[in-house]
Amino acid sequence: MQDKLKNKLVVQKYGGSSVSNVEKIKNAAHKIISYAKKGSQVVVVVSAMGDTTDELVSLARKISSQPREREMDMLMSTGEQISCALLAMAIHDLGIDAISFTGPQVGIITDTYHTQAKILKIETNRIKKELDNGKIVIIAGFQGLSTALEITTLGRGGSDLSAVAMAVALGADVCEIYTDVDGIYTADPRIVRDAEKISHITFDEMLELASRGAQVMHTRAVEVAKKFNIPLHVRSSFLKKEGTLIMQNTSSIEKPVVRGVALTDNEAKVTLCDVPDKPGVAAYIFNELGRRNVNVDMIVQNVSHKKMTDVSFTVAKKDLSKTLKLSKGISSKIKAGNITSEQNIAKVSVVGVGMRSHSGVAAKCFSILAKNKINIDMISTSEISISCIVKKSSGKKALQVLHKGFNLGKKK
Ligand code: ASP
Ligand code: MG
Repeated sequence: MQDKLKNKLVVQKYGGSSVSNVEKIKNAAHKIISYAKKGSQVVVVVSAMGDTTDELVSLARKISSQPREREMDMLMSTGEQISCALLAMAIHDLGIDAISFTGPQVGIITDTYHTQAKILKIETNRIKKELDNGKIVIIAGFQGLSTALEITTLGRGGSDLSAVAMAVALGADVCEIYTDVDGIYTADPRIVRDAEKISHITFDEMLELASRGAQVMHTRAVEVAKKFNIPLHVRSSFLKKEGTLIMQNTSSIEKPVVRGVALTDNEAKVTLCDVPDKPGVAAYIFNELGRRNVNVDMIVQNVSHKKMTDVSFTVAKKDLSKTLKLSKGISSKIKAGNITSEQNIAKVSVVGVGMRSHSGVAAKCFSILAKNKINIDMISTSEISISCIVKKSSGKKALQVLHKGFNLGKKK
């Protein structure tokens, strides 16, 4: 290990739960120093302490029901400024040199979309200079400077993205994501008791799991890691053991057909009834929604009777009221009927790259649910995943029986 880390450039990200109090900040400082002592150059990206960002958001809501997004960015970016300064101080106290920076200070340049900015480039000069001076560099995650010279944030959970982008810009050898769990599991261990830690997972599988409810990694961060082929190591900041390696290809190691299962109940279903069954109608509906930034997930068009059909789709719950408003306009324009919605749904998904080469996974998934008397409301598939909408009250059971049915539990 000693040799492996000599002359390496390591980017480490510490999540909010890993720096939520004084004790934990000191613990992170020790961890960081142990790498530096092995001869690595270390760049640390840090999130705000614990629930700081949530608290800042609720503080803003107490002041104003619709705060401007620019001011939200001014406010939310302060959380990371606190934790990065404190972490630098903790490292200094252990006798090692370190320097903290905000995103704007080190030239993390973004577009101008407040609260959802995208990173355009990272200027690495200042960081490299400090590393060459033997310092550990601590950077506030989740924030940048827009091309209009305003402070921006990258969307909730965005420090993962800051860390991965930093690893890309610096050409880092390793990007480690420290968190309060010790890796990615075959299912949420709070719901499935014998869920097992996954040692290796592909970028594609991680993307599918993350966008289908697994909460450990930020989806956009995994996308960037995939694009630049930067392996990510997700691990616990409190334990020494290895976590989960997210990488391009795990074929030499193991290739289960199903790698994991995920559950989410953050979607709602909307149905447009009596939609005229003729060319161009679906295009119109989904163009209208897309134009207003409503992200549609699953779509089902029922069989048509008498030239009419029902079209159901799911959207994030937070977009439901906007979607219903837009749907009213759409419905009257295309001369469709009523609009109904359902929030008591959950989506359960089965994910694995092995599905590319194995058939029968969908059939097995449906049989497992049927055997357990769980009714499927909607289905969607991708090359490496199958998702089913079920009643919200059956969601947890569906996750448990699929996990068991695909034999993902701890092998005794
Ligand atoms: N502090 C920000 C948030 O809670 C960013 C992060 O934690 O990654 O969303
Ligand atoms: Mg956070």
